[in-house]
Amino acid sequence: MNYLTGCLVCGAELSYSRRYTSRTCYYCGVTQETNASCSEGHYVCDSCHNGTANDLIERYCGNTGSTSPLSMALTLMKNPAVKMHGPEHHFLVPAVLLAACRNLNGTDKSGVAEKIRQARIRAEEVKGGFCGFQGACGAAIGAGIFMSLMTGATPLSDRERVLSNLITADCLRAIADNGGARCCKRASFRAILTATEFVRRELGIDLPVEWPPACAFTELNRECLLERCAFYDIGQEVTQNVLLQGETKECP
Ligand SMILES: [Zn+2]
Ligand SMILES: [Zn+2]
Repeated sequence: MNYLTGCLVCGAELSYSRRYTSRTCYYCGVTQETNASCSEGHYVCDSCHNGTANDLIERYCGNTGSTSPLSMALTLMKNPAVKMHGPEHHFLVPAVLLAACRNLNGTDKSGVAEKIRQARIRAEEVKGGFCGFQGACGAAIGAGIFMSLMTGATPLSDRERVLSNLITADCLRAIADNGGARCCKRASFRAILTATEFVRRELGIDLPVEWPPACAFTELNRECLLERCAFYDIGQEVTQNVLLQGETKECP
């Protein structure tokens, strides 16, 4: 659920004290003197508060120490700058995957910051509605952008280019197999789940392969598939069984 009032992180009431104290921004990690915070102690700097969704994604993923792309995605999706549907999800997917790999491997922050910047430039070329108009969901292309930047793929590369196309293909298949009208949350969860399985298998990178908790975005989505969506509010165990049954159907 997006928090439209109060704290952008948790929805709690904001309070303003007379004294200014030093606080660290929840999203980007900048430390500033402030008299504002929520009852849980969250502080969000003006740049993270006022920026676009892609500004927020870039600032947060540049700073976070999380190794869970799913929990990063959920944190970002709660912020009202990230709309229910929108092309910001095309950047969100590669950004959280790049940040998670950086934090898992302890690779240098500035190099990955440049890759996240590149991911943003590439993802911004994938406009809204790509899934229906171009036949390629932007969340899946986001996974391809992630793999391209991870491996340094170019149109002239061999294996790097193959892996970049294959991860997009796997994500597109998983997204299409769920059926239904577009849902940027469902597509992003699918892309992240598929990408984490892919990098584990192909690159030996042990990102957590996680299912989201029961989806909190149902009420914001007029086209929600409800029980037809594997992430709908019917509990993780059941949804996994639904998926497994769907997968085994193809096996003779
Ligand atoms: Zn809060
Ligand atoms: Zn900030």
